[in-house]
Amino acid sequence: MNKSDELVFLPLGGCGEIGMNMGLYGYKGSWLMVDCGVTFGDDLTPGVDVMVPDPAFIIENIDNLVGLVVTHAHEDHLGGVPYLWRQLNCPVYATPFAAGLLTRKLPETGLASAVPIHEVKPGGNFSVGPFDISLVNLAHSVPETQALAIKTSLGTVLHVTDWKLDSEPLVGPPTDEKALRQIGNDGVLALMCDSTNVFVEGRTGSEGPLRESLIDVVQNCKNRVAIACFASNVARMESAIHVAEATGRRVALVGRSLWRIAEIAKECGYLENCPEFVDARDIGYLPRDEVLMLVTGSQGEARAALARIAADDHPDISLAEGDTVIFSSREIPGNERAIGRLRNQLARLNVEVINERDAFVHVSGHPAREELQQLYDWVKPPVLIPIHGEARHLIEHCKFGRENGIPVTAMAENGEMLRLAPGEPKILAQVQSGRYAVDGRRLVPVEGDVVRARRRMTFSGVAVATVVLDEDGELIKTPQLSAPGIVDGDWRRCRDA
Ligand SMILES: [Zn+2]
Ligand SMILES: [Zn+2]
Repeated sequence: MNKSDELVFLPLGGCGEIGMNMGLYGYKGSWLMVDCGVTFGDDLTPGVDVMVPDPAFIIENIDNLVGLVVTHAHEDHLGGVPYLWRQLNCPVYATPFAAGLLTRKLPETGLASAVPIHEVKPGGNFSVGPFDISLVNLAHSVPETQALAIKTSLGTVLHVTDWKLDSEPLVGPPTDEKALRQIGNDGVLALMCDSTNVFVEGRTGSEGPLRESLIDVVQNCKNRVAIACFASNVARMESAIHVAEATGRRVALVGRSLWRIAEIAKECGYLENCPEFVDARDIGYLPRDEVLMLVTGSQGEARAALARIAADDHPDISLAEGDTVIFSSREIPGNERAIGRLRNQLARLNVEVINERDAFVHVSGHPAREELQQLYDWVKPPVLIPIHGEARHLIEHCKFGRENGIPVTAMAENGEMLRLAPGEPKILAQVQSGRYAVDGRRLVPVEGDVVRARRRMTFSGVAVATVVLDEDGELIKTPQLSAPGIVDGDWRRCRDA
């Protein structure tokens, strides 16, 4: 669709939404995929937990897909690989931490050793087809997050995925200012940049002072303390260890994904010299004021550890008056109701709840406005293309970029093919894009009949008539009518209605 002497960017996910990132770069007839993430179901997708981008465009061009580079180990960047790799069937490039997580997730969809994963060094260089890639270390809320400087003979595109500036990220190096300045000095065609926190003034804040604050907060807690955070946040996990040491407690991990991340982190050289974590089954043997639990489920996920504890349905752990739950995470838009339910349940148990509105217990992993300005200053991009945002974030980011001296900004939402070079950026075409729901082992289009019918049924109910006939077409039983979601009881009441 694009001419082979053009360099184009085509997002199939993550532009126009926060979640399920999937970007394609096209050049000389080849396509490079950056990230392959998931997003989670909501009220409009009943019965759907996980969704992935519609990969139809790249499947039609599958012979030209040279590889997939994963920028970091968050679900919205790599969670789609187990579901889509059979169709993509290409080499995958990832740093050891992201590769470690992928290796553990792939067996869940029967892809134990099928996927060729090439481990690349953080900050390293490699080539995929006609694309020469230099990785740049970024501080974020998971180790080994990488920006990609994608070099072609038409110029370099700098793809800056999720990031922040943090002088004390605690785990892994800070964002590599020197490398970013160098890339800027060498000249870029365009900067693609994270838009998540574009509405937030100032700076995001650092993991270092947060650790100190958590020590203060936990110091004032009486009995058991549970810290709810994202499992992948290894810096937060390490902070919990320090908080526990400073307050005379032991750290227990509650939730499978926390154990998995701890194992990967240790394999990759993080969390070294840390004391053994306590197993959930052994918490009961410790005095209540010596327990610091890290728990999964900060977003109110129904099957996660915190939801079960709050419902008093956890086999090993219970919370009671005098205990505290600290939400060391942000409330992801859309999850407010689930989190509210959780908080009500904890309130019924007389458990104290502390979140980021009550005390300094969380910092974001995304750049606020001053950090964006700093990056523009280092890279001096002639063109800014916002990514990782809903439409309102992308539009605001364009405006903010222009206000800060970037001459040209361009926006591409999912499915819009944007030419990056030669010439000014320009939308060339609109290709198929959308979402697929993961339904067991199959993928079902979210805008297709199955999910649409489920949505209709949840709003209007369904009527079912059962008529049993013999082979001559004669009735052999009284027809049954049921109408779940419309009326209670048997068919007669329905008939009367
Ligand atoms: Zn992300
Ligand atoms: Zn991320």
